[in-house]
Amino acid sequence: MSDHEPLAEVERYARSFLDGLGERPVKASAGVDELRALLDRDLPEEGLDPATVIAEMVKGAESGVVATTSPRFFGFVIGGHSEVSLAADWLTSLWDQNAGLFAAGPSASVIEEVAGRWIKEILRIPPHASLAFVTGTQMAHFTCLAAARHHLLAQLGWDVEADGLTGAPPLRVLTGGEYHVTVSRALRFLGIGTGSIVPVACDGQGRVRSDDLLSTLGDSDRPTIVCLQAGNVNTGCFDPIADVVDAAHSAGAWVHLDGAFGLWAAASPELSSLLEGSEDVDSWATDAHKWLNVPYDSALAFCAHPEAHNQAIGVHASYLMHSKGRRERDEMDWTPEFSRRARGFTVYAQLLALGRSGVREVVERCCRCARRFAEGLGHERGIEVVNDVVLNQVLVRFGRDDDLTRRVVRRIQEDGTLWLSGSVWQGTQVMRISVSNAGTTEADVDRSVEAILAAFRAEERRNQT
Ligand SMILES: *Cc1c(COP(=O)(O)O)cnc(C)c1O
Repeated sequence: MSDHEPLAEVERYARSFLDGLGERPVKASAGVDELRALLDRDLPEEGLDPATVIAEMVKGAESGVVATTSPRFFGFVIGGHSEVSLAADWLTSLWDQNAGLFAAGPSASVIEEVAGRWIKEILRIPPHASLAFVTGTQMAHFTCLAAARHHLLAQLGWDVEADGLTGAPPLRVLTGGEYHVTVSRALRFLGIGTGSIVPVACDGQGRVRSDDLLSTLGDSDRPTIVCLQAGNVNTGCFDPIADVVDAAHSAGAWVHLDGAFGLWAAASPELSSLLEGSEDVDSWATDAHKWLNVPYDSALAFCAHPEAHNQAIGVHASYLMHSKGRRERDEMDWTPEFSRRARGFTVYAQLLALGRSGVREVVERCCRCARRFAEGLGHERGIEVVNDVVLNQVLVRFGRDDDLTRRVVRRIQEDGTLWLSGSVWQGTQVMRISVSNAGTTEADVDRSVEAILAAFRAEERRNQT
């Protein structure tokens, strides 16, 4: 067998996988026991032939693959990928650059500069902001909040990089009660701790109440981080950024924005008013693997205070041959990782293939599809759309009944026409739809609405018998 056969095997398989995606059941067909039986084996003493390895891995794993890139996958908030971003991802692995240092991958470094600049333009982030390509919004929060921690404590004469947090002036974090769990996890990683969170009241959609935030700001002179949200993971709602950002700055606070998917509303003139004030915050976290539809994993952190970002995150060692003032950009001066994947290639390729108008179209089409779901379901007797559908998220309740709602979700998942999941929204069980795939069309929505209605009617009948 020659060396390139495993690649030919993958290319053949990829073609049939992509061509079948529209009709493939969205759920995984095998459960954990079946998958262990298929995949668990003793590690052989002698290695196997490479093409056989790939063929057997496909055979073993295929039934446990969820078609998350299907145009009818509406679970969590998970974007798909495009053929161009997938092809760029294959090149990323082919070149296998260690994108920590310019010297180890000059093109990887420059392509991150360029793609990062394009994203700043699309998302209305000021051009002077520093940037880091990271794995997900989780690590984007970590990066941004490390910069915030540095900035606030340095102002008080405390060197957190040298002296840690023991004995440091305590920080507090003001955020709406509906903040994403990755925010509190970043605070755990940074030693700020979840106990530093001062929750601020939210309205029924999950938006921070600006009056409550503003009055809490004045309660204490502790150094303060305000964490706002653009795109709540359940309702898709936006915090009123413009109403609070100036006051937060006057109080000396750092304002961080979780815009994992919602920040992409900036790409659309119809939607961008939701983000009013977002260009004035101090740091931004967003995903590329969600709404930009590049393969996992890919996200960005931006910071309006490059010096704080670099001081908090950068690394210096004699053998690395990077020094301040060079024109080249070493990615590890900005990213929490040391060795790392060259994440810029997929983003660069996807943006070039879509163009500005293409990004706008993806975002607007997803939002249109979300409204179509809301119209198709909300008019049916016994079905209630719980949220204001301002973006790509729809929350649905069946028969005002938690148990019925759970059962409908389970039946839909079993059916395989589409996939979505349940959630609990302000104490009640809901079915959650997220339209984040660039390939989803109105026809996919109509077919999914039909499948959802069929599942609801079947569960209703079960209720009556
Ligand atoms: C998805 C999401 C996150 C976490 O992003 P990852 O890329 O999974 O790390 C954070 N906040 C919001 C609002 C999200 O939707």
